[in-house]
Amino acid sequence: MVASVSEPQIRRSRESGNPLVREEAALSSEVDSRFRGNDGIAERSPKEISPHVAITPLGFGTRLTLRVGCVLLEDAGHRVLVDPGHFDSKAELLQALKQHAGLTLADIDTVFFTHLHFDHYNDLDFSEVGEVLISDEEMIFIDASAQAGEGGDESYRNFLNMHYEFVAPVFMRQFMRLYRDARYDFENVSFASTMRRVRAGENVTPNVRIVALPGHSPGLLGLVCDTRWGNTLIAGDAVLSREDMCSPEGEAHLIWHRKEQLLQTRDACMKFDAIVPGHGPWFCPATARVLGENNEIRNETELEINHG
Ligand SMILES: [Zn+2]
Repeated sequence: MVASVSEPQIRRSRESGNPLVREEAALSSEVDSRFRGNDGIAERSPKEISPHVAITPLGFGTRLTLRVGCVLLEDAGHRVLVDPGHFDSKAELLQALKQHAGLTLADIDTVFFTHLHFDHYNDLDFSEVGEVLISDEEMIFIDASAQAGEGGDESYRNFLNMHYEFVAPVFMRQFMRLYRDARYDFENVSFASTMRRVRAGENVTPNVRIVALPGHSPGLLGLVCDTRWGNTLIAGDAVLSREDMCSPEGEAHLIWHRKEQLLQTRDACMKFDAIVPGHGPWFCPATARVLGENNEIRNETELEINHG
């Protein structure tokens, strides 16, 4: 999760001649000679890569709000919905599924949550879905937080401080509600009978693998698969955005479980061809270029308008 940053703030930082932006411009010209797509984007030709998994954005993440990226993966006849916490209601989710993939929720085999922060996770009535996968370590945290909550607010606050090295006050207020929130009462959620706890190393489908991306939250898990963009990482909040990846000390984060781990995880993310971050457009980490139907660096508001 990230802070709401006002647009004027972002504009000011862009106009100030941020060296990272200049570096990106140099990288952008370098990338043109390395990738020879028709429109200059980093999409590879079918000869260069044999993609197994189709990836469709159902909603892009933004920095300006707490909207997170939500994608649909289709592999070997299985359909996986990742982080539908992007949507505030089931109606919104159904509309996006219909519009972008011609599907309904009953067509989805698996819902996968990267982690249980309230902007990524939601119970939108997943009773029609085959199974819902949640990180075992995140569940351990939630189980323990319910116990701490029984001791009242002070006990719960101490528990949070033990598990998170840093939580900005704005998120602390949200977190303080978590242990009383019905969405986290996992014995009574819509998918109580189909929930499965998972760990890194397991596969979600034959060609989609779960990986551990520790640091942001106690048990954040990502997904790795070969898509038309190459070896692709769905990173959850291990990488908030392209800007986060370019900032040396994780300045964009206002919450972390273990910062040292978070920075190590982010370094490891550099090896992928494409990253689907928690809160921003997809990008290639080696070049910092945005991946999409057009290679201009667009602001997140435009992306949300275009892709709903
Ligand atoms: Zn998060």
